[in-house]
Amino acid sequence: MKEIIIATRNQGKVKEFIDFFQPYGVNVQSLLDIAEQQLPDIEETGNSFAENAALKAEQIAEMLNRPVLADDSGLVVDALDGAPGIYSARYAGEDKSDEANNQKLLQKLQDVPQAERTARFVCVLAIAIPGEKTKFYEGTCEGEISVAPHGENGFGYDPLFIPNGYQQTMAELSASEKNQISHRSNAIKQLENWDKLVEHK
Ligand code: IMP
Repeated sequence: MKEIIIATRNQGKVKEFIDFFQPYGVNVQSLLDIAEQQLPDIEETGNSFAENAALKAEQIAEMLNRPVLADDSGLVVDALDGAPGIYSARYAGEDKSDEANNQKLLQKLQDVPQAERTARFVCVLAIAIPGEKTKFYEGTCEGEISVAPHGENGFGYDPLFIPNGYQQTMAELSASEKNQISHRSNAIKQLENWDKLVEHK
């Protein structure tokens, strides 16, 4: 059985990684599958997506002594000078509520006209292999922020994010439609040699 470890506890991300790796017969293991007591929460103290992705990938790779892939991602809104950015998960507080984050974003953009609500999702993947230099891959997805949430699919800010060229929000697209255009899939598509991440169990 081929297996890859993703350093995340975010169920939405895990599902998208499974969609990508399953067709190759690779089983995705996340921190949700690994005993809690074995792995602490990694503090995201970096100043960029890349720094935070490296913190997660390198610390978990060292603890498990295995190759690890980590994803740090978020929403960058032009009218808010790039916020919520690296703070996307905890924009409205430490309990990391998607709904509260979306409400806060709508409120911050209350007086901003549609033409100025441009934004992008950013995803930086870090690959940490014990004894090797960490590698990074970045993907983005351009779009704009709607005035109200629409759709039930996906996670995070998907109900508010209208990708360029679409009339619906990301949460109104099917998983496979999102996976064709998302920042995460754009980063995953650039992964070279991801088979180096795979362990045969
Ligand atoms: P991280 O776990 O620190 O990388 O935080 C990622 C946060 O960015 C998530 O909790 C979401 O709020 C947001 N985010 C990242 N990717 C997506 C996505 O694909 N859709 C919607 N929100 C996303």
